[in-house]
Amino acid sequence: MPLQVAIVGSGPAGFYTAAALLKLDREVRVDIIDRLPTPYGLVRAGVAPDHQSTKNVSRNFERTALNDGVDFFGNVEVGRDVSIAELRDAYDAVVLAVGGPLDRPSGIPGADKDGVFGAAAFVGWYNGHPDFRDLDPRLDHPTAVVVGNGNVAVDVARVLIRSPAEMTTSDLADHAAEAIHASPITDVHLCGRRGPIEAKFTNVELREMGGLDGCLPVIEGGILPDDIGDLEGRDQRLKEKNLATLHEFAERQPAGETKRVHFRFFASPVEILGDDKVEGIRFEQTRVEAGRAVGTGETFDIDCGLVVNAIGYRSTPLAGAPFDEAAGLVPNDGGRIENGFYVVGWVMRGPTGVISSNRGDGNAAAGLIDTDCDDGGRPGGEALTTLLAERGVRRTDFADWRTLDAAEIAAATPPAPRRKLSRIGKMLDILDGADDRRSVG
Ligand code: NAP
Repeated sequence: MPLQVAIVGSGPAGFYTAAALLKLDREVRVDIIDRLPTPYGLVRAGVAPDHQSTKNVSRNFERTALNDGVDFFGNVEVGRDVSIAELRDAYDAVVLAVGGPLDRPSGIPGADKDGVFGAAAFVGWYNGHPDFRDLDPRLDHPTAVVVGNGNVAVDVARVLIRSPAEMTTSDLADHAAEAIHASPITDVHLCGRRGPIEAKFTNVELREMGGLDGCLPVIEGGILPDDIGDLEGRDQRLKEKNLATLHEFAERQPAGETKRVHFRFFASPVEILGDDKVEGIRFEQTRVEAGRAVGTGETFDIDCGLVVNAIGYRSTPLAGAPFDEAAGLVPNDGGRIENGFYVVGWVMRGPTGVISSNRGDGNAAAGLIDTDCDDGGRPGGEALTTLLAERGVRRTDFADWRTLDAAEIAAATPPAPRRKLSRIGKMLDILDGADDRRSVG
């Protein structure tokens, strides 16, 4: 009897786990469940639309999905259509790979004003995630502020500032392209609560900000230290490179650019200004002591019409799984919640690392499952299929995704790789033959 495993979530953590399970020296059947009809999680809806080479990893995931031992259950929401308890009954092992879909709350006064968004929502919006299709940000002010100094903050700033010509090879969702490219945004402030040495963006991403069409990177050179001081290892090389890049930016003189990205450091957000709609953001100037941002009591304001908080993600509690509210993840021991129940990726260890960081999680989970689980003769996908049919759930499979994929590719205007579908209803209409994908949804 094969070992029956259900993986909840079809992002990188889910797919690396599936691939690792297939390499075990025993017969394994893997069902990957996702609440969207489209697989690949953050590779589709998180990775920036102008970073297509990063998205190529989905070709590896596709090979895994096409393995005879793997099935994809799309458009199935665990917690709504089927419970974790039911999955645990039906399968020998259940793996949660649901990522960190929520924004860490900023908690400052005014954070609920119109025009303030978390990066999960804003990135989801420009990447065509159905949850954020109707976010409809009013981009009617020349200045936008992005809070955070990680790679997500850099992604958001870059997508807001890039010209339409620079985005022709991207899969920026139509609705976002229309809104961003019609907007008057000329200045984006990228604000970190600590200094340039503590910034978390990687150097390739930082340098990219110096090569955008018609855009000047702006930084006040006086705040940059000459060197990074005593830091060890890989961190040291990264920080040195970042500091050198920022020094190079600081020396640039305007040469007719019409847009600017302002790197602001030592700036901790304290309040969103404005009535119902954001009109500005107040920061407290900080200094860094023992690695922490400490307020100086001095404040300054930036007038703006958009604030995107790119300050980290958190996972969401699932009925039937434990949850650590403070950390925003599922407590676990190296990936094991208990025998037969596992967790991988951001919901296991928090929102850090790159896509390939999930490979190690997948290998570890597969190893634990191999050790813990007998081939219990459980029914696996057969039972799930029956349950979903009884409940009238319109489950989609990987062949359906390939139909949607082909429709997106066919609808694109080259050199764009695809024209994204962003409404589940539209996707299902296409699968039902009720829509030939000539109109955008
Ligand atoms: P991140 O790298 O952890 O950055 C989060 C940023 O938010 C930090 O600058 C942090 O400052 C700041 N922050 C947190 N709480 C704050 C608060 N209350 N007020 C102001 N600032 C606050 O996270 P991320 O940018 O969301 O990225 C998540 C992971 O995905 C990272 O590992 C990232 O490298 C990866 N990623 C990679 C790429 C790529 O490779 N191109 C693209 C996107 C994402 P402190 O440092 O002071 O805490």
